[in-house]
Amino acid sequence: MDYLIIGAGAAGVSAAKEILKNRKKDDKISIFTDENYPFYYRPRLIECLSGEVEVEEIIINDEQWFEDNNINLHLGEKITEVDLGNKVIKSNSDQYNYDKLLLANGSHCFVPPFSGMDLENIFTLRTAADLKVINKAAEKAKKAVVVGGGLLGLEIAYNFAKAGLDTTVLEVAPYLLPMQLDKKGGDLLEEKLKANDVKVITDATTKGFDGQQSVEKVVLEDQEIEADLVLISTGVRSNTSLIENLDIEINNGVKVNSKMQTSNPDVYAAGDVAEYEGEIYGIWPPSLAQGRVAGTVMSGGEAEFDGYVRSHKLKVAGINVVSLGELNEEGDYEEEIIVDNDTYVKVIKDNGDKIGVLIVGQYSEQNQKLADVKR
Ligand SMILES: Cc1cc2nc3c(=O)[nH]c(=O)nc-3n(C[C@H](O)[C@H](O)[C@H](O)COP(=O)(O)OP(=O)(O)OC[C@H]3O[C@@H](n4cnc5c(N)ncnc54)[C@H](O)[C@@H]3O)c2cc1C
Repeated sequence: MDYLIIGAGAAGVSAAKEILKNRKKDDKISIFTDENYPFYYRPRLIECLSGEVEVEEIIINDEQWFEDNNINLHLGEKITEVDLGNKVIKSNSDQYNYDKLLLANGSHCFVPPFSGMDLENIFTLRTAADLKVINKAAEKAKKAVVVGGGLLGLEIAYNFAKAGLDTTVLEVAPYLLPMQLDKKGGDLLEEKLKANDVKVITDATTKGFDGQQSVEKVVLEDQEIEADLVLISTGVRSNTSLIENLDIEINNGVKVNSKMQTSNPDVYAAGDVAEYEGEIYGIWPPSLAQGRVAGTVMSGGEAEFDGYVRSHKLKVAGINVVSLGELNEEGDYEEEIIVDNDTYVKVIKDNGDKIGVLIVGQYSEQNQKLADVKR
């Protein structure tokens, strides 16, 4: 049996590890990545921005590991075509037959149509190669602007500030993390970020960038901000282009069932590229879990993915945030607000039952107990 896996990230490698467990004598496992690094812990790229950690330190399985496990690792080899009829995938240099194929090719950064995108020193962060280029630019830069104040944007900004850059985050919403927080919580998080040398501008509609050769300004609807380094963090999209126009069902991601099977019986998908019950998680733990299911099922075992509950306890730029249940509920609900020692706690109750809890700041033991909600 020839197992081919496109993508050497969380989903692809966790699948390979399951296939290894069921491997028969003549089975071959090959894994392709267009990156030049073997499997690494992608979320920790952010820590590498502040220079505290090197990319080499976040590698989970190095080339030797793949060799030892007799997995053919194709580093720096981009797959450009999938031929479902002949069960072949092609790169610029070669082509490979498969019996079972796993699409674990992840996602890419989405960038809105900003003007001035051809200027130098405007980046997105997805890969170790991106990181190296950003860090090189950051060595000479003084003023960084991060476009997008979501979880990732805030972490990036926090690490730029730690590296000594004058850093500003631009968030289009009226307050930070509107999906996770209410206005008061968002404002408190903003205050705490400011204390960590990160400036925040909310209600900020970015139009584009201006400069001679390299970026010099970020142009907003109502003002301009000086910047010699810009990082855009405005979401990700699944890498579906490889199989567009093929006979496989795609929505925003490649549609899969609970066994990670696509609509083609010999093709599986897992991780950021896969859409399960309308959901693309875009985070590490479900990518690992889906990869494990795909690898098990592809190699003849039994497994099912039954969804993933997102954690409501977050650490945002070093600041604790708990956000759970109903927070901005309309209607006749009781609200209990406690502001204590730099911590904001909001408890929403319906007829005495807690239905939502928000905490920004410290977790005391008492606050931990609050995070037990009925709905
Ligand atoms: C900077 C950053 C910080 C993050 N922080 C967090 C966090 O704190 N918590 C969290 O849970 N998640 C976080 N994530 C998200 C998490 O990293 C992803 O959800 C996870 O890596 C997805 O795994 P994957 O295997 O599906 O895809 P990926 O890790 O993206 O791997 C896909 C692989 O496919 C390869 N590939 C793509 N196309 C081709 C092709 N045509 N040919 C060959 N190879 C190809 C890519 O090079 C890559 O190796 C973060 C992501 C980034 C970028």
